[in-house]
Parts: sequence; structure tokens; C-alpha cells
Amino acid sequence: FAPWADPAAKPYIVFENVSKVFGDFTAVDDLSLSIYEREFFALLGASGCGKSTLLRMLAGFETPTRGRILLDGQDLVGIPPYRRPVNMMFQSYALFPHMSVEDNIAFGLKQEGMPKAEIAKRVTEMLRLVKLEAFAKRKPHQLSGGQRQRVALARSVAKRPKVLLLDEPLGALDKKLREETQFELMDLQQDLGLTFMVVTHDQEEAMTMSDRIAIMDKGKVCQVATPAEIYEAPNSRFVADFVGSVNLFEGTVARREGSAAVIEGEGITIDTDNGSDAPAGAKVWYAVRPEKIKVSARAPEVMGPNTAEGEVWDIAYLGDMTLIHVRLPDGRVVRTSQLNRQRVVEEPLTWNDRAWISFARDSGVVLTR
Ligand code: ATP
Repeated sequence: FAPWADPAAKPYIVFENVSKVFGDFTAVDDLSLSIYEREFFALLGASGCGKSTLLRMLAGFETPTRGRILLDGQDLVGIPPYRRPVNMMFQSYALFPHMSVEDNIAFGLKQEGMPKAEIAKRVTEMLRLVKLEAFAKRKPHQLSGGQRQRVALARSVAKRPKVLLLDEPLGALDKKLREETQFELMDLQQDLGLTFMVVTHDQEEAMTMSDRIAIMDKGKVCQVATPAEIYEAPNSRFVADFVGSVNLFEGTVARREGSAAVIEGEGITIDTDNGSDAPAGAKVWYAVRPEKIKVSARAPEVMGPNTAEGEVWDIAYLGDMTLIHVRLPDGRVVRTSQLNRQRVVEEPLTWNDRAWISFARDSGVVLTR
């Protein structure tokens, strides 16, 4: 499933140069974005970057100050929320406390004037979908957080919208339940064949569930890509740093040969086969993820490029891996993570030990901004 890679595919939701200004504050700034039918799309960004405002404009709760929003080719501006084939599920779930689970799910359908028999059928179908058949008569306060979340979900898809917007859908759940529910959400989206647009500030959640992620900052989109592309090939220091942990080596391009480049950094020379298009002389950053860096208690045979000597600064055993921070002579700390493939009886390194870092030519990416 990768319609965005097909130039002939028509996007389903299009934000076209959309801005939203509140007083003298620009919450969404000339933003353009295309989302495809049946895509699970995530907006990821720090608090206040404009994610919710973008969703609210698609739902119709806010009007763009400038720009257009199209759904299946139709301009949405001016169409009231209830007439859009879009539904929104809020973080707080907003279930009616005095109503049973089935009445909560039926509520929107009744308002729409759907015949009683059809409502009953749809509610049963929805209860089955979220595996709450046995809880139909309970009130929200008699449910767990995860069950309440599923009622809210059932209620928001009962009307069969084309697009479901989810604002921090799992924010109220604890870590374990969240992880389970992420997979349930993905399955549900597949089963229903809906387009999902989810707002989250949790990068793991966005990485787990989405087909593509838009990283947002200050009302703008910094990068739109698949989780793997975002992680392996961030387009800027901001994205590299925002998603996961990263080492940024600053330096100057000394030589270029095809896509290969040699970068003279402080205390380390970097030889990479993935030099972006930065010309010789350009100031760049080489971004390498911690797990791409090897740490050894012994010096390599040749101290060539992509190697440096330092000392163990911090070491933390996390079960599946061990984090080892290595301090270089100039004081910079390089973050590494070593996968514990075997049982760790004794760490080969400890605080203050001499340690050598090294990484392969294809471990990182060159960034120009
Ligand atoms: P969070 O994760 O905290 O919900 P967000 O990225 O979803 O953040 P938004 O809710 O879209 O952020 O808000 C973006 C900015 O716009 C914030 O600085 C917020 O204070 C401002 N803002 C949102 N709604 C209004 C409003 N009605 N009037 C004035 N400012 C607003």
C-alpha cells in the first residue's frame, strides 16, 4: 500500500496552502498536504505546533483563514461539520455518562433519524467490531479506560464516515494497554477500509500505526514520509532530533565523488557513500543513530575515517540493549546502543574505560540544514 509513490494516484484529502490565524498568532502557516484514501496518516509534533487545529479545520470546527481543503475533489470550506463525511474522536472520549454503552453508540444514528431496527443492527455490528458485546448495558463508569476508548471508537465509526480523525486517541491509556490498542486500531482501520488521520505527540505510536507521518513544527510541515524514511532519512536536524535519538557530527565537505563524500568533522573524519548533494566546502551535519555505532574495548587495526577514541561516560543496561555514551577528547558525547543478542553476564565495558567507536559508510545521512 503506497499510493503516494504512484504519480497517477489521486489524493483523497488535500490541504492547499492552508493558514489559520488566531489574532496575531499563526497556528497553521501556509500548509499543503495530500492524504490518500485508506491511508493511516499521523500528524506528529510538539505541543502547540498546530496539529489539532489542522484536524479541526478538516472536521469543520474551524475555518481556514486562507487556503482550501478538498475531500475527494470537493471543496469543504463552507460545508458544516455534520454534512462532512468526516468524524472526529476526541482524547476525552466525551461519552454520555448516564447512557449505556449501546445508547452511546446509537446516539448519533438516532439524531440522524435512522429507523430503529437499522440502528439496533448497526449497534450490534459495532459492539462486535470492538469486542464489547457483553458490555452493551453497562454505563461508562462501569468500564475500564480501554473499554471506554473502544466505545468512543465504535460511536465515532457507527455513522460510517469516510474519514476518521483521532486526536490523541490513546492518550488516556497506560503504556501496555496503549501498545495493544495501537494494533487494534490498525486492524479496525483495515477492516472498515476508512482513511484515518491521527494526531499524536508520541513518536512510537505514530511509527507503529501509520502508513505515513507528517512531522510538524510551528504550523508548518517539516517532512512527510513513511516511518522508515523519517527514521533512516530525516531531511533536517529538526526531524532527526525529533524522532528517536541521534548523533549529529558537524563538519565540512572535504571531497566529493559521485554520491560519496568525505567530511572533516571535529575530532572525526567521516567517509560516507550517501553524501546528499552538498558540494565540497559546504557546512553539513552527519546524522547517525545510536544503534549504528559500534563500541569496542579494543582499538581497531587502522584508525581511519568513521572511528574515534574516547572513554565510557555513561552506561545503562535496558534489557534488550545497553546504552553506552562515549566521551571524545573534545568533550562531545557520542550516544550508542548495543543490542544484547546474548545474555549479558558481565558488560565488557565499564565507566571510564577507554573505548573506540566506529560505524560503516552507509550508517548515516548528510544534512545541510
Ligand atoms: P497539543 O498537542 O498541545 O494539542 P497542537 O499541536 O494540537 O498541540 P493546536 O491545538 O493546534 O496545537 O494549537 C496551535 C496553537 O494555536 C497553540 O499555540 C494554541 O494556543 C493556538 N490556538 C488554538 N486554538 C486557538 C484559539 N481558538 N484561539 C487562539 N489561539 C488558539
